[in-house]
Amino acid sequence: MESIKIIVCEGLERSYLEKIIKESPLKYDFKIDLYVLGDIKSCRDIAKKIGKKDRKSFIKAFKSGVHFSYSSGNKHIIVIFAKNDKEIIKNKNAFIGLLIHEIEHLHQNVIGNSKKIIKELNPKIINLKKFKSEEKEIVRNVIESSIFLLKDLYSNTEIIKKGFSKYILEYYATLFNSKKSCPEPRFYRNFKKEAERNPKIVEIVLKFEFALLSISLPIFNLDRKKAAFLRRDISKCYEINIREIVKRCHLISDAYKNSFSNKNFNRIYFNKVFEILFRVFE
Ligand SMILES: [Zn+2]
Repeated sequence: MESIKIIVCEGLERSYLEKIIKESPLKYDFKIDLYVLGDIKSCRDIAKKIGKKDRKSFIKAFKSGVHFSYSSGNKHIIVIFAKNDKEIIKNKNAFIGLLIHEIEHLHQNVIGNSKKIIKELNPKIINLKKFKSEEKEIVRNVIESSIFLLKDLYSNTEIIKKGFSKYILEYYATLFNSKKSCPEPRFYRNFKKEAERNPKIVEIVLKFEFALLSISLPIFNLDRKKAAFLRRDISKCYEINIREIVKRCHLISDAYKNSFSNKNFNRIYFNKVFEILFRVFE
C-alpha cells in the first residue's frame, strides 16, 4: 500500500501537486506526509508531529530552508519549500526528480541504511582529536556534508538503477543552473595555501564538490557523456577552479567506482573523507 498525504500550507496549487505525484514513477510501500510550504514561516507546527526525541534535529533541518525528508519512527515526512527553487517546481520532470530523490531517501531510512551510516561513522569520530582546535568546527561541518553526499549516493544510485535517470538528471541540471545555487565566482589557484590562510574555504569547496559528486558519480556508470556535460555545466556556473579539489576527491570517486556494492563501503568511504581532511590540514 502506498499513499502520499498532501498538506499545502501556502505557495502551490494542490491540483498541480496531485498531477505531479500521479506521474511520478517511483513505487514504495509506506505512508508519506508531503508538506508544501510558502516559506519557513508557514506551517510552523509541523515539528509537533515529530516525537520529542527527534524534534530538535527536525527543527534544525527545517530551519535550513532546503527541501528535505525526515523519518521518525513510522512517520515519514517530505518538506518542500515552494518559494525556493521556483525553476524546479515549474519544471515537471525536475520536480518529479526532486520528489523521487526525497522518497528514495525515506526508503533508505525504512530499510535501515541511514542508521547503518551513522553507526559506521561513529568510531571514526575519534579521529577528530587529531585536528587542531580551530580546525575542528570545519572538520565537523565537512563530515556533515559527507553524510549528505553518502546518502545522496545511495538515493541517486538506486533511482538510476530503477531506470528513472531522466528525472534525476533534469532535477540536478535545473538545480545547478538556477541562480540560487550559483554563488559568486571563486578561484582558488593554490588551494592548500588558501586553506591555510582561511580554513573556512575547505568547507565551502568540499561542500560544493560533494554536491557535484552526488550526481556525477551515479550517472557516470550509466552515461559518461552526460556526466561530463553535467560537470562542465556546473563548473562553468560556479566558475571555480576545482581541478585541485577534484584531484583530492578522486579518493572518494575511486572508492565509489570500486567498492560501492561492498558491504563495508561506508567504512571505506569515511576513511577516504578523513584522508582528504588530513591531507588538507597536514
Ligand atoms: Zn538528498
